[in-house]
Amino acid sequence: MNSPVSTPLRPVIIGAGPAGVRAAVTLAAAGLRPILIDEAARPGGQIYRQPPAGMTRPPEALYGFEAAKARAIHTALAPYAGQIEHRTDTLVWNIERGALDLMHRTADGQPVSTVLPYDSLILATGATDRILPLPGWTRPGVYTLGGAQIALKAQGCGIGQRVVFAGTGPLLYLIAYQYAKAGATVAAVLDTAPFANRIRALPGLLNCPDTLLKGLYYTAWLTLHGVPLHSGVILREVAGPEGAVSALHWRDSHGQDRETACDGIGLGYGLRSETQLADLAGCSFSFNDLHRVWLPDRDAAGRTSVTGVYVAGDGAGIAGADAAEAAGERAALALLQDRGLSVDTARITVLDRRIARFRRFSAALWTAFPVPAGWAQDLPDSMTLCRCEEITVGTLRRTVQADAPTELNRLKALSRIGMGRCQGRMCGVAAAEVLAHETGRPVSAIARLRPQPPIKPLPAATIPADTAGEATP
Ligand SMILES: Cc1cc2nc3c(=O)[nH]c(=O)nc-3n(C[C@H](O)[C@H](O)[C@H](O)COP(=O)(O)OP(=O)(O)OC[C@H]3O[C@@H](n4cnc5c(N)ncnc54)[C@H](O)[C@@H]3O)c2cc1C
Repeated sequence: MNSPVSTPLRPVIIGAGPAGVRAAVTLAAAGLRPILIDEAARPGGQIYRQPPAGMTRPPEALYGFEAAKARAIHTALAPYAGQIEHRTDTLVWNIERGALDLMHRTADGQPVSTVLPYDSLILATGATDRILPLPGWTRPGVYTLGGAQIALKAQGCGIGQRVVFAGTGPLLYLIAYQYAKAGATVAAVLDTAPFANRIRALPGLLNCPDTLLKGLYYTAWLTLHGVPLHSGVILREVAGPEGAVSALHWRDSHGQDRETACDGIGLGYGLRSETQLADLAGCSFSFNDLHRVWLPDRDAAGRTSVTGVYVAGDGAGIAGADAAEAAGERAALALLQDRGLSVDTARITVLDRRIARFRRFSAALWTAFPVPAGWAQDLPDSMTLCRCEEITVGTLRRTVQADAPTELNRLKALSRIGMGRCQGRMCGVAAAEVLAHETGRPVSAIARLRPQPPIKPLPAATIPADTAGEATP
């Protein structure tokens, strides 16, 4: 007896940033009818995030050199409106047994949870800030770097009038430039990476000369406009009266203690891939020494260890927006191939070469702007590490001394770190660094926090609705 031939479900893509949009368009161009889900109201992702309807700053003002690329992503879905189902304002909060749990709001604002089965899934979930706190970081006025940029891009406001950008990574300089152009006073850019690292990384950075030139332009522009740029610094403390920021204390590369007056601080150490959904989908992970985090295992096309699940863009490892577009298209082509459909193999060769070049560039960026080694060693016991559960460094140290956990999930069980609203998205990296330092083990040896649904907070009023499966390819 013949077994029934099951019709494949519509492919599902999570994330409508550069990677997800390119994946959706590639599938649609091949005749499929993908479902594209994003918690944002409009496509664009982080870099090309669109302002709310009614805010009329032109793309040139919002995205600078990237305005044309932003426009292209914003308009890419329109020709396939009848084919791509774009579910906006929809959060994927869990993956279980081949189905996604989604939360969206009805027209009258009621949060509703639905279930969407999948058999092919492209995770293009992007990245978020890597946060390494310093004493005083919980004061109002301290923002993550990405948060500072979103305030500017999506709300048209700054985090202060006199702002310091501190930490490391290329976004420090870009966001300082964007703030200065928008009229804020940038009091300083304080980079923990030594300048010599950038020289060392130069050969790798030449893989993407256009991007390198843009970076040089931002630093030259800031210098010409009198913004102090310091590298090789140590960030010491955020100071100020109750409930405010008035200065950042730091040590320069010659060991001199310095202080910069400010009323806002953008803090960040590069980006960290959003990998919780890949984890919940059952993908295997490996520790990446360069990124200093765990990333889903994947082949060059984005196939993970789970059949039918692909990763693309920053969610698979930080490589930037151009790389994300190429990876989104590549993952979609892999999906088509895996469904037995014909694809343009010459295009695959072009994409593979491009992606490999972006990867070399990205590796050089991590060399230029590494996560500061030894960050965990001088932290005061009193510093809050986990804001959700108000857990201090001292609590973690005492837990390690008393119970000798050597693995992060054990530390979580003992101390509640990573159990709060953010589920470790904010504190997980810092907690791993502290545990590694306290136990004298490499950070790769202490595992990663196991994600628990919901991966982002849900309104308590969320009600379950009917299963919303799709059955046509
Ligand atoms: C805050 C921030 C600011 C940045 N600014 C710049 C910049 O100015 N210049 C630059 O070159 N690079 C910037 N980057 C990096 C750049 O955004 C990325 O390299 C690029 O956008 C990666 O594209 P992507 O498609 O992989 O992911 P993203 O553009 O991050 O898109 C991911 C999308 O997935 C959605 N998503 C994630 N999880 C879920 C979920 N569970 N449910 C539903 N939707 C979900 C998100 O809403 C988002 O729209 C920034 C990154 C961040 C985090």
